[in-house]
Amino acid sequence: VRVKKESMKSKAPAKLGKEKDHPPPPPPEVHEPPSSDRKDGATYNTGRCLGKGGFAICHEGQLAGTKQKYALKIVKSHMPQKKMEQKFQTELQIHSKMRHANIVQFHRAFSFNQCTFIVLELCPNGSLMDMVKKRKYVTEPEVRYWTVQMAGAIKYMHSKGIIHRDLKMGNIFLDKDMNVKVGDFGLAALLVTGKDWQAHRRTTLCGTPNYIAPEILAKDKGGHDHAVDIWSLGIIIFALLTGKPPFQAATQEEIYRRARELEYDWPKLDTSENYISDETKDLVAGLLQAPEKRPDPDTIVQHPFFTCGWMPQDEEMTPSLRERHPD
Ligand code: ADP
Repeated sequence: VRVKKESMKSKAPAKLGKEKDHPPPPPPEVHEPPSSDRKDGATYNTGRCLGKGGFAICHEGQLAGTKQKYALKIVKSHMPQKKMEQKFQTELQIHSKMRHANIVQFHRAFSFNQCTFIVLELCPNGSLMDMVKKRKYVTEPEVRYWTVQMAGAIKYMHSKGIIHRDLKMGNIFLDKDMNVKVGDFGLAALLVTGKDWQAHRRTTLCGTPNYIAPEILAKDKGGHDHAVDIWSLGIIIFALLTGKPPFQAATQEEIYRRARELEYDWPKLDTSENYISDETKDLVAGLLQAPEKRPDPDTIVQHPFFTCGWMPQDEEMTPSLRERHPD
């Protein structure tokens, strides 16, 4: 199991690459070469830097002659390490096939100046990590709203046979209306090519029992590989409400041990703002269970947590967040 510690403190999270692996900042104009669906190519006027990842930098880009703004994710075309190149190829392949309201939309990719540019939906309000750093923690109504959206994105990915495997606050972005958008498919895995997950389960299970190899049964019992994303959702909900992940510890071994033993405590209340209901605790306990016991996204959104308190309407998210937390 791969666990990356998501740092709550440092601005640049520790990632795979080193500084020299990043491409240089893009020139003011970036040219997309002509292609079959854009015979004249295109020009993007680049803007502010949105952030840096392990080997990517991300800048705002406006499609010249339009008001359309995007996030341009830029990586060097020739990466020094094979591992990174692989990560990036997976990311391109998987992300380009995703289309969902709560997944950062992939628009196109092209080469320019020895770099690969990915044109993504712009999420101008940062990540959930930025949000929690700014606010310390968020409220149950906000978590209700975002969890429904995250569950929707997870349901969609799993129905396509995709396990994200790296869901965390820093990989979940906020669009201009404060909707969450899952991004960064660099560690995602394609479970079953070309088939949807449920169909795969049906076909693998309809063989004659006597002839089915144990590893297929094991695989199915654990068709539970995808449950890793449900676990992550549990961690995200806890961290959003309390400001820190449940199994936080000084060393990686200690984090693993605490997670194995499900050793976590909800903090004591200090204000009515960070009130944590029994329904929340029950929901999180359900997500942080053995993989075969974790609920699927449809079951998650049926949980009393979603009806025991206020659920913001779409239009209530933006103004309330802005009012309480002016920049
Ligand atoms: P890497 O795959 O190298 O980790 P990321 O995908 O995490 O790179 O992107 C690096 C940073 O760029 C992110 O932490 C975030 O700040 C910013 N970023 C990425 N995608 C978007 C987006 N669609 N909209 C706005 N900012 C983004």
